[in-house]
Amino acid sequence: LDLDSWSHAIPGRPGTILVAGDKKAQFENELNAIGAEFTVETENIKELLDLEDKLLSDASRKLTLTWTLFMESLLHAREWVTLPATLYAIHKLVIDVTEQDLLQDIDWIVLPIANPDGYVHTHVESRFWRKNRATGYMINDVCAGVDLNRNFDTFWSQASSNLVCSDTFHGRSGFSEPETSIIRDIVLEHKDRIELFLDIHSFGSMILYGYGTGQLPQNGLFLHLVGVQMAQAIDAVKMSWNQDYIVGNVALVLYEASGSAMDYAKSVGVPYSYTFELPGLRFGLGGFGFLVDPDFIEQAGFETWEGIKAGARYARNNYRQRRSVK
Ligand SMILES: [Zn+2]
Repeated sequence: LDLDSWSHAIPGRPGTILVAGDKKAQFENELNAIGAEFTVETENIKELLDLEDKLLSDASRKLTLTWTLFMESLLHAREWVTLPATLYAIHKLVIDVTEQDLLQDIDWIVLPIANPDGYVHTHVESRFWRKNRATGYMINDVCAGVDLNRNFDTFWSQASSNLVCSDTFHGRSGFSEPETSIIRDIVLEHKDRIELFLDIHSFGSMILYGYGTGQLPQNGLFLHLVGVQMAQAIDAVKMSWNQDYIVGNVALVLYEASGSAMDYAKSVGVPYSYTFELPGLRFGLGGFGFLVDPDFIEQAGFETWEGIKAGARYARNNYRQRRSVK
């Protein structure tokens, strides 16, 4: 009888022996003949392995049918009120779960601090810093940083600054910065599954879509309609002193901008890609919109989540239709 010892055999101790299915009966007879005690651990390992294969392939099939929502904040360091928007979303997805359907049907990718060095700089040095903290471009030790939302390679340098000291300096080339390269890698890894891409900025109460050159994507009408749905959901619960959200193409509503995260996601095939500009009023008044009313911090998370939910549910239904998934 040709046998495999499953574990290292020690004389005088019990051992585990792997027996082929067709030799099991013969082996048991021999053990009985010499009076050895034994138990059978698994009747049929092949059955077990087949079951495991099936479970694994079911799980991976489910993964390719699940769509993904990507959301990030603080690509611009000084836009502090954008962090509560992503953190609130995480809170609603992990701790205070009230929207089961959005958990079951969606893989969420949330990047709360897309520009960590810049964000630290706004705390310790300069509250209104916008760019990252790249030092490789400095002239006589001044003017650090690249505007990360001009550093993606879609229309790179067409509507941004070549001047190192400018707040919209676009860097050496598309994806010259580690922060944008990482976002690119995440998007590329999941690009066939990302249905909705949200880049949260402040300020101005706007939901913007591409392209930053003013040219409209093929699904421009639907981009607009979904944008309006998200805006209306936010407006329904907004603070009375804030204005209604404006929805539109970024170049038409705000200004031309090239190399943005939103346009990059759109250009690699994400159907619904937006930049949010959260409200920027302070105690209902104007002023420097990066400094919002502290009472607005929690509200920013709460009301933006209403918009995200509306967009997520639309995108889920749209993804199912496109893939004919029930
Ligand atoms: Zn911004």
